[in-house]
Amino acid sequence: MSDQKKNVLSCIQPTGDIHLGNYLGAIKNWVDLQEDYNCTYGVVDYHSMTMPYKAKNLRENTWKMALQLLACGIQPENLFIQSLIPEHSELCWILGNLCSFGRLNLMTQFKDKTSQLKESDKDAFVSGGLFYYPVLQAADILIYHADFVPIGKDQVQHLELSRDIAQRFNHQFDKEYFTHPEPLFTKNTKILSLANPAKKMSKSLGEKHYVNIFGDEARIRKQVKSAVTDTGESEGISPGVQNLFDLLLASGKIDDHTSLMNDFNNDALRYSDLKNAVAEGLVVLCKPMKERYDEINFNKKEFKNRIKDSSSDIRKSAKKTLREVKEIVGILNPKD
Ligand code: AMP
Repeated sequence: MSDQKKNVLSCIQPTGDIHLGNYLGAIKNWVDLQEDYNCTYGVVDYHSMTMPYKAKNLRENTWKMALQLLACGIQPENLFIQSLIPEHSELCWILGNLCSFGRLNLMTQFKDKTSQLKESDKDAFVSGGLFYYPVLQAADILIYHADFVPIGKDQVQHLELSRDIAQRFNHQFDKEYFTHPEPLFTKNTKILSLANPAKKMSKSLGEKHYVNIFGDEARIRKQVKSAVTDTGESEGISPGVQNLFDLLLASGKIDDHTSLMNDFNNDALRYSDLKNAVAEGLVVLCKPMKERYDEINFNKKEFKNRIKDSSSDIRKSAKKTLREVKEIVGILNPKD
């Protein structure tokens, strides 16, 4: 029987610990998609070279991210590490020639990241890799003929570039070879920093701004307890309080959400009740993942080997695509 499932592809940079924003905004969704799609998920370490980094940290963070993804529920056979599949970078070079300099120059993320670098140091080094990385992203997607890419609104422009490259390739070589990947917009839970709800939860803001889902229970409770609620500036529900309600919903505490929202609407909400419910919800949500992560860490070598094996299996389809692409564009394959 033929496999009718569509292909889903998504990747994440190895930034260190997975925080609650990453989990609720992206990874939980990846886990759920595995039910209905052929999913391929990558830890894209080459992408992390585009911004300043330390070699030792990169290697450590790559493994950490891969193992944490397993702890979150990603199946090992669906997971690869980008640098273990060199065909991505080879395809990137080929695709770069199907994408104009002007088109790349329109990418807003390059401008955003450049100004982020220049903010801390006006003479900061901005690499060519940072400019070129949307092409590597296109290679990551097209090499597996992905039908769908789960993305947030900030990635729409990059996916459009991948589609344009696929279209140009098919047109230039007069062959319907590449699939045009479609965005898969799922429920978008944007989690805000507990310490500053004016900002998105992010590691780059510093430790108190993100909840480490593998952190200990006491720390999670403490972070929720000291969450900023209402600064008195906004009318209606404040971003901090809305964020706590969103977290309650995301952690599956539907009944608590309904009853506390009722209290809020009747001006009877005690923030301490809301925080207690959120803390409880998050602890229950994170506990099984932390336990699984502890188990994985205990057998680290075995799990690393499983990821190496799955990368090697996934590499087979990357190799096939690259062989066919080289054939189409007139570049030699080893057996030619
Ligand atoms: P990053 O490491 O910031 O590139 O994020 C990796 C993934 O997690 C992306 O899909 C982001 O959209 C998602 N993500 C990161 N931070 C948050 C957040 N605070 N709320 C929701 N999703 C997030």
